[in-house]
Amino acid sequence: MNKDALMTFDRQHLFHPVLPPHVHEEHGALILESAKGAYVKDIDGHELLDGFSGLWCVNAGYGHESIINAAHEQLKTLPYATGYFHFASEPTIQLAKRLADLAPGNLNKVYFTLGGSDAVDSAIRLIRFYFNSLGKLNKKNIIALEKGYHGSSSTGAGLTALPVFHQKFDLPLAWQHHIPSHYPYRNGEGLSDQEIINKSVSDLKAKVEQLGGPDHVAAFFCEPVQGSGGVIVPPTGYLKAMRDTCRELDILFLADEVITGFGRTGPMFACETEGVVPDMMTVAKGLTSGYAPMGALLMGDHIYDVIADGAGNTPVGHGFTYSGHPVSAAIGLAVLDLYESGGLLDNGQKVGNYFEQKLRGLSDHPLIGEVRTAGMLAGIELVVDKTNKTKPSAALQVSPKMYKEGYKNGLIFRAFADDVIGFAPPLCCTVSDIDILIARFEKTLNNVL
Ligand code: PLP
Repeated sequence: MNKDALMTFDRQHLFHPVLPPHVHEEHGALILESAKGAYVKDIDGHELLDGFSGLWCVNAGYGHESIINAAHEQLKTLPYATGYFHFASEPTIQLAKRLADLAPGNLNKVYFTLGGSDAVDSAIRLIRFYFNSLGKLNKKNIIALEKGYHGSSSTGAGLTALPVFHQKFDLPLAWQHHIPSHYPYRNGEGLSDQEIINKSVSDLKAKVEQLGGPDHVAAFFCEPVQGSGGVIVPPTGYLKAMRDTCRELDILFLADEVITGFGRTGPMFACETEGVVPDMMTVAKGLTSGYAPMGALLMGDHIYDVIADGAGNTPVGHGFTYSGHPVSAAIGLAVLDLYESGGLLDNGQKVGNYFEQKLRGLSDHPLIGEVRTAGMLAGIELVVDKTNKTKPSAALQVSPKMYKEGYKNGLIFRAFADDVIGFAPPLCCTVSDIDILIARFEKTLNNVL
């Protein structure tokens, strides 16, 4: 199909997630055609360094033969097997075993989903099942962080705390609550790391009290590094303090590692940095490196045992036709090989250090208010006035301009709520890819000044 037809049909028939529909109708889409390594090409043949790994998912980079071959072989031998009832397939079982081995502590039970939103949704449903099985019938409220993102399902989107996911959707629901994020740049300036942690702990305790005490609260959800809220990195010790507080209050702690899992921040899972073992963990994205849809909810044995006993001889009525899809699972196994024996995790850590150092070198740029990094994950908070921290969106609309400039300079990044630029380059990047990324970013910033 030629470009004009594609552009027309895209405008006529594709409803793009998270884009104002009229903006799409006016400007159309950036249609990508091919990709290799860390680079993508659009239908005009224009090459771009994908500084965002698609949507923070293509950790391995594009065009990996081993992943493609694994998918091809699985398509030939068994393209589908349900995970429902008593059916299973070999790659799905192997992947569950590998995830259980890799995950911290006793997160030994794996519930496969199609992505992150339904992993979060599954967690919410199974938490209900868990507490109802224990006879703790009032433990319904769930607390999450302001600026958090937990997907777009009809329940998960209420735990997400970004306004566009609530407005006109009648969210959040009555049992969904939020406490302030660990966001010192705009929320608690001047506090030391320890003070931020202490404040977060007391915010959580106060919220639990306000909701009627621990008997009325089921769980606390957080991302180990907040992604879509603007890549907000907590101080070291935060996760452990929040985890310990949840244990003390007898509420479950869920780590949403959909972005941070699989080497994005350095280790396989970001929770490992502080030796934290959550009661539940959600993963997706890097699990298959985006080559096929798949997510998972991992749960501790202590959660599974209660659910299994609570079910007795009746089914746990929650499932998806494509749960544990064998092609996605085969891809997941090939991707895990790359992280481990293929050296991708090690490369991500090494290049991630370099990336952090180079980005920090840009801190004096007049448009940069703060640089936040965690391995191959970064948020650059843009300001038009460093002293007053004036957001560019209010004055100059820097971010839309930046998208255009970025494109001209051959760089893809993400602009959050018009004042934070996000980067999540593939873990396969070399040091010279990072040099290219930084040079293109600096040029982009200079051109919008
Ligand atoms: N949780 C987090 C932390 C995410 O960042 C995302 C997506 O970006 C999700 C959940 C939802 O995942 P998905 O888009 O695969 O449904």
